[in-house]
This record gives sequence, structure tokens and C-alpha cells, in this order.
Amino acid sequence: MTAKKMLGKVIFKACLAGSNWLVRVGFDETVDYVPGQYVSLKVSEDGMRRSYSITSLPGEKSIDLLIDVSPMGVGSQYVLGLSVGDLVEVLGFLGKFGVKEEMRKKESELLFVGTGAGIAPLKPMIEDLLTKKFFRGKVYLVWGMRHEEDLYWIKEIEKLQRDFENFHFYIVISKPGEDWPGLNGHVGDVVEKLNINWDEAFVYLCGNSEMIASMEKQSLLSGAIKDRIFYEGFA
Ligand SMILES: Cc1cc2nc3c(=O)[nH]c(=O)nc-3n(C[C@H](O)[C@H](O)[C@H](O)COP(=O)(O)OP(=O)(O)OC[C@H]3O[C@@H](n4cnc5c(N)ncnc54)[C@H](O)[C@@H]3O)c2cc1C
Repeated sequence: MTAKKMLGKVIFKACLAGSNWLVRVGFDETVDYVPGQYVSLKVSEDGMRRSYSITSLPGEKSIDLLIDVSPMGVGSQYVLGLSVGDLVEVLGFLGKFGVKEEMRKKESELLFVGTGAGIAPLKPMIEDLLTKKFFRGKVYLVWGMRHEEDLYWIKEIEKLQRDFENFHFYIVISKPGEDWPGLNGHVGDVVEKLNINWDEAFVYLCGNSEMIASMEKQSLLSGAIKDRIFYEGFA
């Protein structure tokens, strides 16, 4: 499917936590894409663009974007300035970060690792696998955040964990407050302790480039096959 320019309208915008905003862009028609894909948004009059992963499932007349505005560059400021009713120019749908059919064998183990807003494409990829594709192999999601105050979507993801016994979800906080009862450290510390069958593993990494480089190295050392490691780097 070739990418095309579309005009959308902001139909919802809310701060989820800290600097993380959810922006829902509505279209006249139902839109179709592969979970894991992203769009390129025109963020300035002179045509500068920024990429944002789609964090909702296809088949609706809207897409959800999860945008961390902490970089505070041109894209972040554009997003902060958007109001419900504003028109946005969207180029989509882009990228090949999806789970392909051949990866959905029952013995496959799918490991998703995200840091910060890197959860954005992983959430719909996992929802699609579990609720639409009925994948029953093991699915792991390890989500790393700096501070627990910045977490969002926890109830939703925990519900998915209750509904699907093959789905295992871990949050890890690198700079936790004193009262944080959960895991602390880095995503690699958690992955190291998972009992993954690396011969059958497919690894999906999303977030900052340091995490991606270090998790790729760690996965390879653990026994993952190189061409079964996929990533989407945000910066
Ligand atoms: C395929 C793809 C998908 C993406 N999906 C998302 C998404 O779903 N949600 C999302 O929030 N972002 C996503 N990004 C990142 C996004 O496109 C922007 O690059 C980022 O939000 C910064 O844009 P900006 O214009 O605000 O800052 P810029 O003007 O580009 O940069 C300002 C400063 O912040 C630094 N910086 C740039 N990006 C980041 C970052 N991600 N984290 C920390 N510092 C940064 C720069 O080095 C610079 O110093 C994605 C990027 C790619 C390539």
C-alpha cells in the first residue's frame, strides 16, 4: 500500500501523564494500516515533518498518537499548540515494524521492549496479536520509564495480562521514588531474568537509540537470531 497525504482533524487531545499527550486524529473514511506503522505529520508552515507511531488499532475513522513533548523541538511545540478542531496534514502509512504472519507460529516467543513513548507502536501490535490474531505463543512486554509518575495505560495493559495468560507485562523504572513497589533498573535487567527460548524468539525494540543498541547486543549474546530483531528508533 503506498503512502498518501491525508487531511485529518484533531478530535481529542489530552495529557496522559507528565509530558505524554494523546492526540486523536479523525478522517472522513475508515483507515487501514498494519499495527506498528507510523505517520509523518506536517509540523510547520514551511513543511517540516515529524514521525509518530500509531497507537490505536486499524479499521476506525481515526488514529491515536502518543506524543512525548519533552524534547520541546518544533514537533513538540506544534503538538502542544494543537486544539480539538484543528486540521493536520498526515502522510501515511509508513514503516515495516509489524509482526508478520510467519512470526506467529505457535512456538514463537515475541519479546517487545519499549522505553518512554516507545510503548506507542508496541501496544497496538500486542493487542492485535492477542485479540485479533489469537496468537497463543508467549508474548512479553517490558516497558522502561524513568519515573513512575509518567506511567499511563497501566490498567488497560494489566487487563490484557489478566485476559491472556500467554501475555507477560513488566514495568521497570530507572529513577524510582522511595515508594515505588515495582521493578527498578533498566529494561535489560528484566529481560535477562525472563526465561525466553531465544531460538524461537522475535524481538521488537522501540525507543531511544542507546536502548536499542544495547538490547540488540544483549539479545544477540543471549542467542537471538540477528534477522529476528526489529527496531524503531525514536531519536
Ligand atoms: C519512525 C518514528 C516514529 C516515532 N514515533 C514517535 C511517537 O510515537 N511518539 C513520540 O513522542 N515520538 C516519536 N518519534 C520521535 C518524533 O518523531 C520526534 O523526533 C521527537 O518527538 C522530537 O521532535 P521535536 O521536533 O519535538 O524535537 P527536535 O526539534 O527534533 O529535537 C529537539 C531536541 O530533542 C532531541 N530529541 C529528538 N528526539 C528526541 C526524543 N524522541 N527523545 C528525547 N530527545 C529527543 C534532539 O536531539 C534535540 O536536541 C518517532 C520517530 C520516528 C523516527
